[in-house]
Amino acid sequence: MDTKSLKTELLCLGARVSASGVEKGRKAGAGPAAGGMFLFSGTVANVPTQSWFVSQSPYRVYNDAGRYILERDGTRITEVKFPAARFQRLKTRDGIPYYKIALLHGADCLATTTIQTCVYWDTPKRCKFCAIELSLRSGATIAKKTPEQLAEVAEAAKRLDHVTHVTLTTGTTATPDKGIYYLAETARAIKDATGLPIHAQFEPPKELNMIDALYDAVDTVGIHVESFDRGVLRRIAECKAEIPFERYVDAWRRSVALFGDTQVSSYVIAGLGESDESIIEGSRTMVELGVYPFVVPLRPIPGSMLENEKPPAPERMHLLYEKVAEVLHDGGMSWRKNKAGCVRCRACSALPDFEY
Ligand code: SF4
Repeated sequence: MDTKSLKTELLCLGARVSASGVEKGRKAGAGPAAGGMFLFSGTVANVPTQSWFVSQSPYRVYNDAGRYILERDGTRITEVKFPAARFQRLKTRDGIPYYKIALLHGADCLATTTIQTCVYWDTPKRCKFCAIELSLRSGATIAKKTPEQLAEVAEAAKRLDHVTHVTLTTGTTATPDKGIYYLAETARAIKDATGLPIHAQFEPPKELNMIDALYDAVDTVGIHVESFDRGVLRRIAECKAEIPFERYVDAWRRSVALFGDTQVSSYVIAGLGESDESIIEGSRTMVELGVYPFVVPLRPIPGSMLENEKPPAPERMHLLYEKVAEVLHDGGMSWRKNKAGCVRCRACSALPDFEY
């Protein structure tokens, strides 16, 4: 099996991890949590290790005299490595463990949720796939990370673990800027301390000029439509369904004008009940605008409202990735042009691996 097919299978099926010394990954949080970062064959994958369906996966990792081996139904496939994060063992000057402030994502990305609460969490409008406040309740993180704390952790992550870029996300705030101004403030502190390229993710604000506040603070942005199927959105993420699609398009356009071609991206989740056409045609629309469609299989995170769901079949994801890679190719777009964040990290999507 080639690397891109193996990565697709791992993203969809997960892997059983019993080897001693291997971290299973964070349990919850924003984005595709409950996974472990697997490095193999020149790529990186954020592999489900804790969801219910993992027990049915043909993939397992075992420890063979200090080396971690991935096997499929008992047959050795390849050696995998797990990125080290020495900075995560330290504490801030005010006594908070660094791992509660930010984590290593993928091979070399520092990631954090600046504000770990979301205005939609205790409402019916909450995104059903999200687990942002679960990690807060479990004590794995803190509600709001200060610019000083993030600058301190980022400096250590760069020095000790050769982190090369940063992803900042946020729960949506009740303020009209949706959390953008705080993202800008924290990004500036990290930039001043490290000079690292930074990615910020947020909901599209009504006032487009609010995005301009990020101009000198970050290098790339993510504005996540999640699905192009409005019926799916109404069922799975009502807060997103209330935002007209045109507002996403306007926010993407404004952001491409500010940050450049391929520096703007959006998660597109497969496996919520949408058709293949919705993903392929939606991706085409994005690529025409200069936006990278970061297509990921649904990650049913334990504790989230979709915890009992199953990711889409690897065969379907394989087909989708082939088609969307063709769209990227025709539009002259590649993850390699992206400066920071999920597209550059590529652990959660195999789309970059399908590019040609
Ligand atoms: S792709 Fe994004 S969410 Fe996934 S591991 Fe990388 S930085 Fe984190």
